Amino acid sequence: MLALITGGSRGIGRAIAERLSSNYRIANFDIEPPKEPVKDEIFLKCDITSSLEIKEGIEKIIKEAETIDVLVNNAGITRDGLSIRMSDDDWDRVLDINLKGAFLCSREVSKIMIKQRRGKIINISSIIGIMGNIGQANYAASKGGLIALTKSLAKELAGRNITVNAIAPGFIDTEMTQKLSDEMRNKIIERIPLKRFGKPEDIAGIVAFLASDDASYITGEVIAIDAGLSISL
Ligand code: NDP
Repeated sequence: MLALITGGSRGIGRAIAERLSSNYRIANFDIEPPKEPVKDEIFLKCDITSSLEIKEGIEKIIKEAETIDVLVNNAGITRDGLSIRMSDDDWDRVLDINLKGAFLCSREVSKIMIKQRRGKIINISSIIGIMGNIGQANYAASKGGLIALTKSLAKELAGRNITVNAIAPGFIDTEMTQKLSDEMRNKIIERIPLKRFGKPEDIAGIVAFLASDDASYITGEVIAIDAGLSISL
């Protein structure tokens, strides 16, 4: 059994790789290799905005491991700024990685899963894709789009025994959120009912559940893991 994780070298993706490594061989599409690979990890330098690199990477995985059972579309970036000042490039780059990258990986991996007549696709969206956020129009659109993609793929692939679900994390301590000023961080914590940021492991545990047989009757679902942030307003 093999799980392919995009952006698996650090942050949430690394925690997912570590958590899934007890049940799956791990393949990791990222720009840089992880500092500490898990056992037998297949690292493939792959920019997920390139369909060519994705196809080549998948060919290598199939050659070596013959199967892809789980795909976790996790790679993502932010390029924040108010809409009126947002450059074309900041819009395009975020949409290309967060949404198109997930589509390209899902398209290629689902071809394998369709032949296998089984598979699980798990998309790491964001609570911002549901709630929206000032200064994150590009990010919110990409993550909202990822939820719509999740539901569409869930409908398309259900007949082939492939489930597709999304996770919508709130604020999780990684390099992505280290960019926030202390003032901003404290303001956010004030609004979170459980009064703290989450850990990458909080997301990895739900990915492990969605990848397991216990979740085989769940598809097209979006699970918020946000300590109550989305219900607090
Ligand atoms: P990090 O910035 O810590 O890690 C992101 C990883 O994705 C990095 O390893 C990065 O590689 C990789 N990556 C970026 N672009 C590409 C690309 N084009 N091709 C392949 N890999 C790429 O982010 P997080 O761990 O915090 O976030 C992971 C996911 O969770 C993202 O989709 C994010 O939007 C989502 N999320 C995060 C939240 C948070 O609070 N942290 C909240 C909600 C959602 P490199 O090192 O080269 O940049």
